[in-house]
Amino acid sequence: MSRKQPANIVPTTKSRGGRTPRAQAQRTQPGPIIQTRKSQAAMSPEQALELLKAGNERFVTGRMSNRDLREQVSATAGGQFPYAVILSCQDSRTSSEVLFDLNKGDAFSIRIAGNVVNEDVLGGLEFSTRLMGAKLIVVIGHTRCGAINGAIDNAELGNLTALLRKIRPAVESSLEDGQTGSSQDKKLVEAVAKANVLLAMRQIREQSPVVRELLEAGRVGLVGGMYNLTTGKVKFYENQN
Ligand SMILES: [Zn+2]
Repeated sequence: MSRKQPANIVPTTKSRGGRTPRAQAQRTQPGPIIQTRKSQAAMSPEQALELLKAGNERFVTGRMSNRDLREQVSATAGGQFPYAVILSCQDSRTSSEVLFDLNKGDAFSIRIAGNVVNEDVLGGLEFSTRLMGAKLIVVIGHTRCGAINGAIDNAELGNLTALLRKIRPAVESSLEDGQTGSSQDKKLVEAVAKANVLLAMRQIREQSPVVRELLEAGRVGLVGGMYNLTTGKVKFYENQN
């Protein structure tokens, strides 16, 4: 579909009218929606998660929204009302905007090797939620992560050494007693990647009283997930908070 669709300023699910095949297609594949203060305020953490799931489903099935990003520049220039904040790895293949088929203004994106948590990351999460109203914190790891490999192998290089050390608790918890582990062990790599997402979620709860208060009040949600580099699919870890 090459026809340009205007960015909707107000989210709506109401019918656009008409029964032509094109109108039909528009109803099943609504155009991009720009979040507003009102839409953000009305959204629950669960609804935010559903939007991300639907976006990943569009990505995986090749039905990504037909959006004009230049049009979205002007539509979002006056402010931003993101419904999520996504902490993910800096890996060049794991851009959240792409894998969740996001519009401008949908989500804050914090990217750092190995999706580790430090006080600056926590500060960004606090800004996104407490000050900017995002409803869902998402921690996304990915398969075949170089940072996970490096942490398992105890790689050392400049400042990277300290970063990889932050992943070590996830490595230790994934190893049997006395086992040393190697990044050649693909099962171990994926087990550590998952443990590292759960570790980050725990650290967010424990190390940010600001976020913890929002989580306990039910105003914000926290969920982890794993992006599969081979399939493009994100598997969410629900009920593991
Ligand atoms: Zn990575």
